[in-house]
Amino acid sequence: MQLQAVTWGATLGTICVASPTCADDITLLGEPQDIQAMLNIIKFHTKRDMVKINPEKSEVLCSSKGKNYQQKTYTLGEKQINRVDKLKHLGITRNDKSKVNTDEECLTKTTIKYLSIQENPTENPHNIWKCVRNNQNDIRKADVKSRLITGTYMLQTTKGKFSKNQRSGICELCTKVEEDIKHFLLECQSLESVREKQRNKLLSLTVLNRRGGKANYKQEYVLQIIMDCSKLSTTTLSHLKTDDLIEIEKHSQNVCHQMHKKRTELQAQ
Ligand SMILES: [Zn+2]
Repeated sequence: MQLQAVTWGATLGTICVASPTCADDITLLGEPQDIQAMLNIIKFHTKRDMVKINPEKSEVLCSSKGKNYQQKTYTLGEKQINRVDKLKHLGITRNDKSKVNTDEECLTKTTIKYLSIQENPTENPHNIWKCVRNNQNDIRKADVKSRLITGTYMLQTTKGKFSKNQRSGICELCTKVEEDIKHFLLECQSLESVREKQRNKLLSLTVLNRRGGKANYKQEYVLQIIMDCSKLSTTTLSHLKTDDLIEIEKHSQNVCHQMHKKRTELQAQ
């Protein structure tokens, strides 16, 4: 609380964002003098409240090349905090260039493996948001899609994982196998009536299926098109233009939303 009351450290516009916390994990962001002052506040309050922050479990990552920045030492109480050139915070590895290696993140995080991560998202919105018009219906569809692509849509396996396997990961609709993203979008027989109508239309938009008629696409490929077709825009779908990718994404959001509605409806029965 004391840290939030002071105005040192990093800001976003006029909002102070110098000490983001998650459970018992705290990060300090700012110029060297801000950081040391904040460390002193932490030392004072933790001592008063009789809790201990272990300086050996804390690390300093400097993103500036300036000599003064590089040579500055930081202490928590008497102890100096170790400097590192990369560190892991909330599961994400950051380096001294203040950059997250997005390719590595995509490879190691199974929840975002279908997501195409862009270099400059502020100048150019992600394909998922390009097809969204400013109305409730479109935003609702994009919301479902965003949760699916980031692994935060509550499938049974997600619930199982968050409950440390206290809850079953078995699909509540067909009660046969575990409900993961592939089962939900491609396999669950209880959702086949909705899926069947949409799947071919979606694939026809990729133009690829015109070559071989009713070709048997690999499940993983179909899943990638539904989840984020822009990830294939440099490889299999390189023949498509930006507008084509937006059109596919638009249809994919319809498919996902309809599957979501059917799933919710069946679960309520
Ligand atoms: Zn099922």
